[in-house]
Amino acid sequence: MEPAATTAAPTATSVSAAPSQDQIVHQFAGRVPAYWGLEAPGVLKVLGDPGAGIALTLDFCGGPGGSGIDHAALALLKKLELPATLFLNARWIQANTVLARELAAVPFFELANHGSGHLPLSVTGKSAYGIPGTRNVAGVYEEIMANDAVLSEITGKRPRFFRPGTAYLDEIATEIALSLEAIPTGFSINADGGATYTAAMVAGETAKALPGDIIISHGNQPSSGTSAGLAKALPILLDAGHRFTMLSAAVP
Ligand SMILES: [Zn+2]
Repeated sequence: MEPAATTAAPTATSVSAAPSQDQIVHQFAGRVPAYWGLEAPGVLKVLGDPGAGIALTLDFCGGPGGSGIDHAALALLKKLELPATLFLNARWIQANTVLARELAAVPFFELANHGSGHLPLSVTGKSAYGIPGTRNVAGVYEEIMANDAVLSEITGKRPRFFRPGTAYLDEIATEIALSLEAIPTGFSINADGGATYTAAMVAGETAKALPGDIIISHGNQPSSGTSAGLAKALPILLDAGHRFTMLSAAVP
């Protein structure tokens, strides 16, 4: 009836809190997905504003064989002061807590959410690359929000971007992420093929980047060709006048 009082107590101002698991389970009950893959509707695949530059992202997948540190890649980005978005999995953070806090303090790095258990994001248990995905809506919630809490504690704010393990997801899981204000993030350039490419291949793929592209690569496989490939391609892109951006700076 009345306009909002201008003398409202500070505690009444809206604080963005994610819906609870119960709310999400209720909201998405009975929804059946039709899509399974890397590019569900609603996934951020390119920047809406190419003028923002190129968004380099590195995944840190964690788990057995996945909790390594590509020190060369991180040193390269620091030397170039190159803005990048680092998708950290909860298991990687657990294995590298001190480094995770150091990365959070680098002004041109942004920390993002690479899942709690590094699971493909499914409401029906679909698999990708032989990895069984989350089994239901509650599983999707946990996969996003458990690591969301870990990252929130490290950075003091909720991560804005979420990339599932394997980057596979269905469109219902995508909607759930959006409801949780976690922007599901894909890519337009696969720079390192899951950290399997040679340095020459990484350099070749990375050098294809144009303004608005989102590059996926990895920061957890030091024996891969990723850092050497990036070391070749990134200076070329910079010399050509391209600029790089953290996702948050590019996505309103
Ligand atoms: Zn990963």
